Amino acid sequence: MPSSPVETPASISTVSIAERMAQVDARIRAAAEACGRDPATVALTVVSKTQGVEAIDAVLAAGARLFGENRVQEAQTRWTQERARPTDVELRLIGALQSNKAADAVALFDVIETLDRDSLARALATAIQKAGRAPRLLVQVNTGEEPQKAGIIPRDLDAFLRSVRDDYGLSVEGLMAIPPVDEAAGLHFALLGKLAARNGLKVLSMGMSGDFETAIRFGATHVRVGSAIFGERKSPEAPSRV
Ligand SMILES: *Cc1c(COP(=O)(O)O)cnc(C)c1O
Repeated sequence: MPSSPVETPASISTVSIAERMAQVDARIRAAAEACGRDPATVALTVVSKTQGVEAIDAVLAAGARLFGENRVQEAQTRWTQERARPTDVELRLIGALQSNKAADAVALFDVIETLDRDSLARALATAIQKAGRAPRLLVQVNTGEEPQKAGIIPRDLDAFLRSVRDDYGLSVEGLMAIPPVDEAAGLHFALLGKLAARNGLKVLSMGMSGDFETAIRFGATHVRVGSAIFGERKSPEAPSRV
């Protein structure tokens, strides 16, 4: 049910967040079915960066369990100080990780989606060994080879994956990408799928509010959705800065 503009602001936020999440869930299901995929093979990662307590509580109440965060400290505040983290909540780091925060990230996150360089692989391997806890790992790929964007460029990926495994003893379960804003996302999703298949990787984190249905068509197993659920973010957290 679309939220009507005459609702009072107080009632909108919680109600419409739950409604919008239900709409996103329904769109994911429809997109999967439209291409002959089992909807259960597509997971919704709710991108909770910048959101306040009430917004998060609304999506938790609506059933969200996978959350994407792009800053380690902000995620610590949200998931250890503002509330006790429900035990079945999975936290996924989707923003750039500095090597000096590797230990904090290993302690907090279940999945780190942004492994993108040798020095970070080394820092994560050290932190994982110390902590005795190993988040699952995705490698971020810079499919558009944009100079300002993080990620391994496609032609370096296979060697990087080998090095992560053989030199650091880390296992990688999939790939993540953020396509260039000004290009057809489908080409980039197709490329990421091809790179994953070639390396025997099963997890594909791709697709955001504007293009998650396309990503599902190209095999996404995890779509990262923020603004389609919460509305436009007030503070600028453009993915292109990640
Ligand atoms: C913010 C962000 C998203 C969510 O973007 P929306 O367009 O708000 O859905 C997804 N992925 C990454 C890496 C992000 O930083």
